[in-house]
Formats: sequence, structure tokens, C-alpha cells
Amino acid sequence: MTIDLRSDTVTQPTPAMREAMFSAPLGDDVFGDDPTVNALETKAASMFGMEAALFCASGTLTNQLAIRTHTRPGDEVICDALSHIYLYEGGGLMANSGVSVALLPGERGRISPAQVRDAINNPADPHRPLTRLVSLENTMNKGGGCYYTLPDISAIRQVCDEHNLPLHLDGARLFNALVETGESTEAHGQLFDSISICLSKGLGCPVGSLLLGKREFIAQARRYRKLMGGGWRQAGFLAAAGIYALDHHVNRLKLDHARARKIGAMLATRPEVEDIYPIDTNIVIFRLPETILAVDYVAQLAGKGIRAVTFGKHLVRFVTHLDFTDEQLEELERQLKF
Ligand SMILES: *Cc1c(COP(=O)(O)O)cnc(C)c1O
Repeated sequence: MTIDLRSDTVTQPTPAMREAMFSAPLGDDVFGDDPTVNALETKAASMFGMEAALFCASGTLTNQLAIRTHTRPGDEVICDALSHIYLYEGGGLMANSGVSVALLPGERGRISPAQVRDAINNPADPHRPLTRLVSLENTMNKGGGCYYTLPDISAIRQVCDEHNLPLHLDGARLFNALVETGESTEAHGQLFDSISICLSKGLGCPVGSLLLGKREFIAQARRYRKLMGGGWRQAGFLAAAGIYALDHHVNRLKLDHARARKIGAMLATRPEVEDIYPIDTNIVIFRLPETILAVDYVAQLAGKGIRAVTFGKHLVRFVTHLDFTDEQLEELERQLKF
């Protein structure tokens, strides 16, 4: 048995999802007439009470399009130093948008309203780049799947409003946060100018992310998507998986979180595990002692059929997902005892 905990992106589409994909009506999305893509975009926008949506191939693309659309070259984006948009998008925000970043040291990747306020440059000072965008990540990957709640975000929104700045959300795993807090999609939609959500993470789709925002903003992002080669044709095959996932795979995320907490309890009994990040959603990050390198530990796990990723010199990450079962959880417990 192979147990793949490298990421929640490794899932295979379920038989019912495949069925939905195969029977989807298709058109040409560059011409705007793929009915399934249009249905997914309308559905997602209305879930969040936002005007429009754009279906894309990846969360990197939706984030990059959002940054490109909100900013001009030379502007500055405020985000946490552990943000995916900065660490894991290939330097895209510099390459695609020509912007600089003000990197804040948040609490496990979550920044505060006071930090944001202090990082906004005086627009009258020509030495400084113009602060043009604030970007949050929820849940926070590098912070171990911790999340912001509505009051946290409202307070940051207020600072943005005082300075006339748009607020973007990298919500690759937003639904993982929402099933924990019980907060609504609409309430989050009201606080952001743009939201990126991933369908190919916990929701179990093979491909796809959505960018949500105002009609004009999305029209501009669509233009940039084409410019970057991201226009696609019979994408309804993939959009059908997205519609299926939004209908069937949101509430079950709680199961992934429960299993992640069980993994945490197992790891807590292991002598080689020095520290475990608090487990808030589906991400488990743990620290090994100075004497054990994460690469060696991960290689040892791989030899036992357990796949994980290193998340630092002595840090290892497990992510639970749709294809990780209770049976695999039991097998993991047996295999961890070495
Ligand atoms: C996975 C992820 C993305 C998008 O990644 P893609 O692989 O490009 O879809 C964006 N932000 C966060 C926090 C992520 O975990």
C-alpha cells in the first residue's frame, strides 16, 4: 500500500466526478460559449456574492492574474513573508507584474492590521514604491494550515479602506477554513476585492482554480489570461469536475481535518518528533531533532510506502485529502513505529 501525503493535490477524480466530466456539455471557452465553464463561473461567483469569476488551470495563474490586474510595474504588494505568492510561484509577481513586495513577519503566516498599516508607504514620497495591494492567504500553507477568521480580516479590510487599497485572498484552501469556522462564503466575498480558490486541492478536482471579483476586474484578468497563453477551449470537461466538487466535496473536508489531528496524536508519541505545529485543518508539519535531516527521514518513509515532503531542513509536512482513508491511517500508524 502506498500512502501519499505529499499534498492534497494528489487525488484521483472519483467515479462520480469522472461521470460528470464525461457527460458535460462543451463549447469553446475562448469564444465564451462553453456552457459548463460558464455554469461553474456563475455558480462560484454567486456562492461568494461576487459579480464574476474566471476559471483557470492553476492557483498560481489565478493569483498572478489578480496581482497583474490590481497593480502596475513598480508598485508594491504587502503580504506575509511565508506567502505562496512570494515563495512558491517562481518569482512570478516580479516577472509577470514587475512589482516589489513588502514581506511581513506574521504569526504562522498571518499578518495583523497594525503590521499592514505600518507597511503602507507614504504615497507623497517619490522614493518609495506605491503600495497598491494587500494579499492574504487562507488557510496558510507554510504556517501549517492555520486560518484567519472574519474579525481578523475585517480589521485588515478597514486599514485597506482607509488607504484605498484593494485586498486579495489566496484562498487555495479557503474551504478548509470555512468548514472549521462555519463562516459563510458570502461574508468572505464581501471583504475581498478578489479571491482565488483551488478546486484541485482538498476539493479533489484533477485541474482548476477560480478567480472571483468585480465584472470589470474579471474582464481585465481574462485579457491577461489570454496574453499569458491561458485561454482554453473545451475546458468544460474540467469545469464539470469543479461543479461536482463544489456540490459534493466541501463538507467532507472535516474528515480530512479529523484524520490530520489523529496523525498529530500518533506523531506526539514518537521519540524522533520534537515538535508538531498546531493542527487546525488538513496540514501536519512536524520538527525533527538537529541530528535528523528531513530529507533522510522522508526517504526512510518512502521506503515504507509513505510519501511526504520536506518543509525545511528539519521539518516534514503531511497533508490529508480525499484519497486518504481510515485504513491508510491505521497502516500509517503501524509504519511510523520504526
Ligand atoms: C497550491 C497553492 C496555490 C496554487 O498552486 P497551483 O499548484 O498553481 O494550483 C496557491 N496558494 C497556495 C497557498 C497553495 O497552497
